[in-house]
Amino acid sequence: MSIAQNLATIKQKIEQVENQANRPQNSVKLLAVTKTKPVTAIEQAIEAGQRCFGENYVQEGIEKVQYFAGNDQLEWHFIGALQSNKTRPVATHFDWVQTVDRFKIAQRLSEQRPDDLPPLNVLIQINISDENSKSGIAPEEMFALAEQIADLPRLTLRGLMAIPKPESEPEAQRVALSQMAILFEQLKEKYTSVDILSMGMSDDLVSAIECGSTMVRIGTAIFGARD
Ligand SMILES: *Cc1c(COP(=O)(O)O)cnc(C)c1O
Repeated sequence: MSIAQNLATIKQKIEQVENQANRPQNSVKLLAVTKTKPVTAIEQAIEAGQRCFGENYVQEGIEKVQYFAGNDQLEWHFIGALQSNKTRPVATHFDWVQTVDRFKIAQRLSEQRPDDLPPLNVLIQINISDENSKSGIAPEEMFALAEQIADLPRLTLRGLMAIPKPESEPEAQRVALSQMAILFEQLKEKYTSVDILSMGMSDDLVSAIECGSTMVRIGTAIFGARD
């Protein structure tokens, strides 16, 4: 299957689940995750109409952002773990950071966001399955971090992101996904800028949309397995 065909299949799936779950059409955005994939793969996705891309590694991501700098319709999301010594290139080149999980990182991103660019869109990453190996804050810490981020002039708090522990059964997948949906509703009530709940990958796409995701992050199902 070509990248264009895979994209069409995913978009059809998203639309089908939106309908089944009684959600409005186009309420779920598709982020194409391109880590380890060459620029030729991204070119094919752009050709097929895709505009939003997610990258996990700073150096690799920046090279791709720069390669496509002539195309101002593209939206670049940083979705990997971010160390504080790497915040400047991310603040300079990306439009979104989905993995903010401490104030120090948020503060640096705000300070380092260039004045000639719009504020950087950020999501707070929640460690919803409480895994030691995963980044993200505990749900109880959400409001405290949100309050600090809301005060930063060069960031816009847009919502939440999570990578739940992989589960193969939909019922098991929905446990963490519905907990995220509750947190998202609570945050949305308090901040008018909040509109994005980023959850759902190739293997839990359907459950995530059923549970209220507004942005799914899909790599493998579009571009094939990574090396
Ligand atoms: C790699 C990655 C994805 C995409 O995962 P697939 O299973 O390939 O769809 C989504 N989100 C994050 C944070 C990732 O690192």
